[in-house]
Amino acid sequence: MSVYKDQVETKLIHASSNVDIEQNTGAVNVPIYLSSTYHQASFDHFGPFDYSRSGNPTRQALEQKIAELEGGVRGLAFASGMAAISSAFMLLSAGDHVLISEDVYGGTYRFITEVLNRFKIEHTFINMTDLNEISSAIQPNTKVIYIETPSNPCLNITDIEGVVKIAKEHNCLTFLDNTFMTPLYQNPLELGVDVVLHSATKFLSGHSDIIAGLAVTQNEDLGKKLAFIQNSFGAILSAQDSYIVIQGMKTLGTRLKQSSESAQLIATYLHHHPLIEEVYYPGLSFHPGHDIHVKQSRGFGAVLSFKLPSKETAKAFVEHIRLPVFAVSLGAVESILSYPATMSHAAMPKEEREKRGISDGLLRLSVGLEHVDDLIADIEQALQAASHKVKAQSL
Ligand SMILES: *Cc1c(COP(=O)(O)O)cnc(C)c1O
Repeated sequence: MSVYKDQVETKLIHASSNVDIEQNTGAVNVPIYLSSTYHQASFDHFGPFDYSRSGNPTRQALEQKIAELEGGVRGLAFASGMAAISSAFMLLSAGDHVLISEDVYGGTYRFITEVLNRFKIEHTFINMTDLNEISSAIQPNTKVIYIETPSNPCLNITDIEGVVKIAKEHNCLTFLDNTFMTPLYQNPLELGVDVVLHSATKFLSGHSDIIAGLAVTQNEDLGKKLAFIQNSFGAILSAQDSYIVIQGMKTLGTRLKQSSESAQLIATYLHHHPLIEEVYYPGLSFHPGHDIHVKQSRGFGAVLSFKLPSKETAKAFVEHIRLPVFAVSLGAVESILSYPATMSHAAMPKEEREKRGISDGLLRLSVGLEHVDDLIADIEQALQAASHKVKAQSL
């Protein structure tokens, strides 16, 4: 443990990426240990590694790094964000009950409703922004409250400390998906959350090249239990992909800061555009939950959503936009535009979608690292094309 209190940006570069110090090569990057098994020098005394499902030095460097960044005791790297999330839910047993945000990530929604239910683990979807609703939805067998803040795609804000307080009163754990904020902007463990989860596919790796997931626990006991599940279930991250996440994280500070700055400018621009009906971005002072977000986070992130009047105008916008790729996913160097109704939330019935604000005119933008003037000019010309559509329709 260092006596220096380094900032997150510094830790992103230096934290625990020093495993090769032991080897005295001076290499500034963690070696990729491509080894499934490890020779044991002694018959009755085994070394720190035995088999790479249980532990691999490259993966361990990443696991230590994310634990240090989140201020937790145990980090674990998984084959995907969903592998991390599903493995965390395996801490539960048949007969347990979960409270979960109604606007949770689509894959988590699918896992809870179509997999966990077959193992007799019950769930209730609630509006996590309403602390009273949480209190009244808690059951004697509720073991986990699952939070995503800001949520996807409408960036709803949950009061983390408020939920933690209720959870502790009822002896249940809190899990939090921190994908949108990353440890650069939000450290839920320091607010009392028990397990932080990440899709490292997004901002942490940052280049749309790999699928990866991370989990960090607040205490040793939970860390041991989750490591046991990681080894038993086996959805581990490979050494090569662990290396890619470590490298990606080194530039997270600069990338996310630049993208967030651009997102703020784009959100403001969209807010003033006559064709846009609604903009969802926590950095807008009138965004619901803005004050709570400011209290618990250090930045607003690079994801925003906005509402066009109809499916036809959204279609015209997408067909005319030039720079952002039109795709699922987020958190990369290139801007990514997506249409939640048929992409991330396709599995949701239209009625459920619209209840959550995911209308047919809603688009989500993950702002990348292009020059913000180019992005705004591009958005402007695509909106112009969408406006023509509106005029043509009203003729
Ligand atoms: C992408 C995403 C996930 C799932 O992660 P994968 O790496 O795709 O498995 C979970 N939560 C959020 C908020 C995400 O954006």
